[in-house]
Amino acid sequence: MHYFIFSVVFLALFSTLAGAKPNVGHGVILMYHHVSTDTPPSTSISPENFAEHMAYLAKNHTVISLQRLMQSVSAEATAKQKLPDNAVVITFDDGYDNIALNAHPIIKQYGFPYTIFINPDLIGVQPRQLSWQQVRQLQSEGVSFANHSSVHNHLLTGSDQPKWLENTLADISKAEKRLKKETGQSLKYVAYPYGEFNYQLKTALREKGYIGFGQHSGAVSTTSDFGALPRFPAAGIYANLNTLKVKLNSLAMPVIEISNEQPQLSFEDRQPEQILTLDLSDMLKQQVSCFYKGDSMILAWQENRVDITVPEVLPVGRSRVNCTAPSISKKGRFYWFSQPWFVPTESGNWPD
Ligand SMILES: [Zn+2]
Repeated sequence: MHYFIFSVVFLALFSTLAGAKPNVGHGVILMYHHVSTDTPPSTSISPENFAEHMAYLAKNHTVISLQRLMQSVSAEATAKQKLPDNAVVITFDDGYDNIALNAHPIIKQYGFPYTIFINPDLIGVQPRQLSWQQVRQLQSEGVSFANHSSVHNHLLTGSDQPKWLENTLADISKAEKRLKKETGQSLKYVAYPYGEFNYQLKTALREKGYIGFGQHSGAVSTTSDFGALPRFPAAGIYANLNTLKVKLNSLAMPVIEISNEQPQLSFEDRQPEQILTLDLSDMLKQQVSCFYKGDSMILAWQENRVDITVPEVLPVGRSRVNCTAPSISKKGRFYWFSQPWFVPTESGNWPD
């Protein structure tokens, strides 16, 4: 009996000292836009291909809601909220009407929960958008709606102006209020239009209780950056189920520290240094690979710190460096990390 009490006290003390969060596991978030054959190919998947994805998920994964994933990986999570080993979340951006027409009937067959990030001021206004009536109908069938800003502007536009942060936060807050008014729900989840954000915006949103979502790739766990969580695009060139399988099984790279938290660059200065400090307890240094434009990078290590600086000036627009490493304990699964970089044009515009 005494031994038992001693053990409990010791364990409690130990986990407090170690600051250990329960190991709740990992989840992967998929991002779709159009499910249609007559929309822009880069952001579209055909209904047939989409049906294949859903059938594959039903057979091989556990589809959970975005809310469940966020609760499990939050700082307050307990061991009880452990994720299934193969958790996947389905999201859509932009609120196109083809989600209701083409995607929803397929998803409904499986009863999967999913989330649509919408621009409230475009709903029922722009062609091919959902109407508020459709939004409410989908919601009554278990679909969640979240914030994609009011009108889908490039949020980094004017970020050199003094009122930019205040105005951008006001735009997101306005969209959130409209979501609350129309759907009764305010999740405080923001998907950045075009996946573009900077350090100031993601930090300010976290302070206001929001969780941010980007368009860089990777899995999500307790060690992720909740100001800009990764999602895997699953349409266009990424719709191929064979390449998607590896991503669906990916794990969040345990990054302890990141030397450069500012993904926004300037036209004049666009060769950013980036050093990641990794927890190497379940991966081998020599098996960590990073890729830029499809090419494997030569990596310089210093203990558990790896330099992933791109050896050239980045182009205008969005670039990414992706790093992967096989897990030692989970055979066939890869840790995944993606670093997005954003460069404006010489005149300060952010291209689509
Ligand atoms: Zn969008």
